[in-house]
Amino acid sequence: MPDPNGFLRYERRLPARRPVAVRITDWREVYPPAGEELIREQATRCMDCGIPFCHDGCPLGNRIPDWNDLVRTGSWDAAVDSLHATNNFPEFTGRLCPAPCEAACVLGLGGQQPVTIKQVEVEIADAAVARGGLNPRPVPASTGRSVAVVGSGPAGLAAAQQLARAGHAVTVYERDDAIGGLLRYGIPDFKLEKQHIDRRLAQLAAEGVQFRTGVNVGVDVTAEELRARHDAVLLACGALQGRDTPETPGRPLRGVHQAMTHLVAANRVVAAAGDGRPAPAVLPDGAPIDAAGKHVVIIGGGDTAADCLGVAHRQGAAGVHQLDLYPEPPHGRDAERDPWPTWPWVLRNYPAHEEGGERVFAVAVQEFVDDGTGQVKGVRIAEVTVERRDGRRIVTALPGSERELPADLVLLAIGFEGTEEQPLLAQFGVTRNARGAVDARPDWQTDADGVFVAGDMHRGASLIVWAIAEGRAAAAAIHSYLGGVGDLPAPVDPARQPLAAR
Ligand SMILES: Cc1cc2nc3c(=O)[nH]c(=O)nc-3n(C[C@H](O)[C@H](O)[C@H](O)COP(=O)(O)OP(=O)(O)OC[C@H]3O[C@@H](n4cnc5c(N)ncnc54)[C@H](O)[C@@H]3O)c2cc1C
Ligand code: SF4
Repeated sequence: MPDPNGFLRYERRLPARRPVAVRITDWREVYPPAGEELIREQATRCMDCGIPFCHDGCPLGNRIPDWNDLVRTGSWDAAVDSLHATNNFPEFTGRLCPAPCEAACVLGLGGQQPVTIKQVEVEIADAAVARGGLNPRPVPASTGRSVAVVGSGPAGLAAAQQLARAGHAVTVYERDDAIGGLLRYGIPDFKLEKQHIDRRLAQLAAEGVQFRTGVNVGVDVTAEELRARHDAVLLACGALQGRDTPETPGRPLRGVHQAMTHLVAANRVVAAAGDGRPAPAVLPDGAPIDAAGKHVVIIGGGDTAADCLGVAHRQGAAGVHQLDLYPEPPHGRDAERDPWPTWPWVLRNYPAHEEGGERVFAVAVQEFVDDGTGQVKGVRIAEVTVERRDGRRIVTALPGSERELPADLVLLAIGFEGTEEQPLLAQFGVTRNARGAVDARPDWQTDADGVFVAGDMHRGASLIVWAIAEGRAAAAAIHSYLGGVGDLPAPVDPARQPLAAR
């Protein structure tokens, strides 16, 4: 029986982040472990409210009150089992999820302080490693059926693990040189150190999952060949088509890049250093890209922009501006606009924002300014208003509000336009919809029979928790398509949306 008064005795507390002055000199994770005493105290704040809205906030349906109580009583092994029953990779979500569950926690009603669910999750995930490791669960008998998973992000890996544990032979094809999708070279180490991925991959490999890196499906192997080799195919290729701004004057200048170009180059340097292979940050064509000593302007306000900010500081930028088209959001939930338990529009401060830089809201770039040699030297911005008319976004610059910011490096973090247009799509006979995503039927099959889709490729650029949820659900559908015995868990269907008031 959970403690009904825990939240009255204890305030919400999180572990202190590593000091800024220390952490920007390295690439290690920002959060130290919370320690058993703090985490058991915080888990005690969960009163098991009877109707746990956090379940609906979490796309995985994580059994949050159950494992909170197991942590409260120190039953760590049972907590590990309970968490893994619904989430293949809690070490990823516990570190990276924005925690819609916390926005839906009953303790958060009326602007109060929700349970630190995400922190409890990561502590349980890390306890699993500390208490004997991530033990593989290989199945004794094979079904004789085989599945190709294309793309090795969290959606593909969750599906691969579920299918392998159901006895199917699974091969994951990844065009990059390492497995992990955006977790590997998109998300910096200060948010997710890569040993967490490697540990999980060792578990998957021991469970029989085969990995093929450096294989661009549609180019190195055709869809026809893949279909001949396997009984079903899951496409989990992400939504990696970065949005651009080709109409802005000066866009072709040197020094103006897609954010992912910068992040991937920086993350590859860290990966190489970890293997004792010092490497400079370079673009795919070998040209250097580094923020050291530069004035950096980041355009965009989301995860990607915040990651660029943290990277720029660690590389030694001279100064950073982060520009947002929209006005500064409220600092607390606007209950009229986003009533509890929905995900509120509020100012999100990432750890990277504590590390420096200036955020500028309600502005738009009018021009990337040339230094006379084809290299960017500044951005001309104007204050703007943004409104929606007939479903379209209208941005209006305020006359006389223009000014110039210095910029030697400009990073476009203005979102993604869905999955990339690539040969694989036509070869499998699937198309991108108006959002650039690939539609799924209710059983996760695309327009092509036996070809399934999950994760960002289906949903559009989203979150790790949704990718894992969709990977698990697509695996359940594939298992049933292959005539597997029993049902695998399917936490979401293709039409499922986040909690919303309208
Ligand atoms: C910079 C950045 C930071 C983020 N931070 C967070 C965060 O903090 N928290 C959070 O919840 N979410 C975050 N996200 C979003 C999250 O990373 C994604 O929602 C998630 O990774 C999607 O998983 P996925 O498996 O669908 O695809 P991805 O992770 O994108 O993986 C797709 C994989 O498919 C491979 N692929 C594509 N085409 C082929 C092909 N033809 N052949 C073989 N392989 C192919 C790609 O190389 C890639 O490895 C972030 C995203 C970005 C860009
Ligand atoms: S995965 Fe995300 S939403 Fe689900 S319990 Fe963890 S932090 Fe909350």
